[in-house]
Amino acid sequence: MTESETAVSRPESNETLTADTLVVGGGIAGMTVAIETSEVGKKAVLLEREPSIGGRVASMNMYFPKLCPPACGMEINLRRIRSNPNIEILTLSEVETISGSPGNFSVTVRVNPRYVNARCTACGDCEKVCEIERENVRNEGLDKTRAIYLPHLMAYPPIYVVDPEYAKDDRMKKCVEACQYNAIDLEMKPKTVTVNAKAIVWATGWKPYDATKIDNLGFGQYKNVITSLMMERMASVDGPTDGKITRPSDGKDITRIGFVQCAGSRDENHLPYCSAVCCLASMKHATYVRERYPEAEIHLFYIDVRSPGKLEDFYNRVQDDEKIFFHRGKVGRITENPENNNLILEAENTLTGNISKTEVDMAVLATGLVPNTLDNPPPIDTEFDEFGFMNANGTNGIIGCGTVIRPFDVAASVQDATGATLKALNVGTGR
Ligand SMILES: Cc1cc2nc3c(=O)[nH]c(=O)nc-3n(C[C@H](O)[C@H](O)[C@H](O)COP(=O)(O)OP(=O)(O)OC[C@H]3O[C@@H](n4cnc5c(N)ncnc54)[C@H](O)[C@@H]3O)c2cc1C
Repeated sequence: MTESETAVSRPESNETLTADTLVVGGGIAGMTVAIETSEVGKKAVLLEREPSIGGRVASMNMYFPKLCPPACGMEINLRRIRSNPNIEILTLSEVETISGSPGNFSVTVRVNPRYVNARCTACGDCEKVCEIERENVRNEGLDKTRAIYLPHLMAYPPIYVVDPEYAKDDRMKKCVEACQYNAIDLEMKPKTVTVNAKAIVWATGWKPYDATKIDNLGFGQYKNVITSLMMERMASVDGPTDGKITRPSDGKDITRIGFVQCAGSRDENHLPYCSAVCCLASMKHATYVRERYPEAEIHLFYIDVRSPGKLEDFYNRVQDDEKIFFHRGKVGRITENPENNNLILEAENTLTGNISKTEVDMAVLATGLVPNTLDNPPPIDTEFDEFGFMNANGTNGIIGCGTVIRPFDVAASVQDATGATLKALNVGTGR
């Protein structure tokens, strides 16, 4: 499929696009707003800063509570997007300025170069000859990609991209020569376009709390302490270990694993709030380990388990598993046994005050969600709560949506997106 057959647009510099709703952020929340806006016959422009849409969900191995692969849900959404003439997608794009007011916004957008044009067929010939390697951010730095790469197998648009750091590197010329479609253009320049929109929905999502800041839990110090997102990528068949969950220090199988809940969350020194999804994510990860290592012991340390509403059923199912042990206790310290690189988890039972020590092969830190608006807010006066989450209905008229307003699971993000779609469509109608 070529770019021209997709909803993805490469407008000319200084071009002006018009939309009923401009959606900033192409994760599950932003995609939902764009789809629902377009399916009632209104025009949406969906803007994503990465080379492909899908957000964090596209990096998950399975979804709780049903434990199905996110590819299914994503594929349905992508089909709705592909067949819809009312959605225009700008990837590698970021908002620079916002002026005007609800009903009449004018937004300037920087569209960064992909260095690969619409003729790309994703054949991969360029990647095979590329000599330059770069850290694979999608795989949490656990492996590398070439400097020209397809973001992932389900990437939309299905088009290669060049890491801008290497676009001017002479070694990239080999890739240009290898492309029989003449699709690589290392001279591409950034463009500025204007989007005139009645409403703006801001859905730029979340990032994980930086685990290196939690110095008592050994991340960055001990190889076998990983984060929940690393676990998610290790378990994925298209991840850095082809789906194998093994110890980073020596590649050994898992016999005892520890999950550390509230790693930095509900903690005045780090994130004072609960991120709502971490308990369920760790229980999901416990099922990944269980599936691969039926004999392994799984120890999950919690302050109290948060599994709201129907998600309690998932918690009950996991609790019934005889190899999964729930320990009431906040892990205060992780140290390493230098003889075998095992980890010792010291936890204090929050009810009795008793301290326990548990030795495991590997520990997974369930770090919380930080809104991306914290270091990349909309370029207009915006209201935030004390933790940096956006006010969904701020006085600037921009509608916050999904995990920029509060930690949400996917189902709640989608519900919130439906609400944001309606709010946006009502802008200027007096409703
Ligand atoms: C370890 C872990 C496991 C999880 N597992 C599950 C699960 O199994 N089931 C479940 O229901 N939920 C799960 N979640 C929660 C799930 O990840 C979120 O509900 C979901 O990602 C929210 O989608 P979103 O669109 O709000 O944000 P995101 O997924 O973060 O998407 C935001 C998008 O905006 C883009 N963006 C960011 N900044 C800008 C900008 N300035 N301009 C343009 N674009 C921008 C990003 O690149 C991204 O594409 C899990 C969370 C964690 C931490």
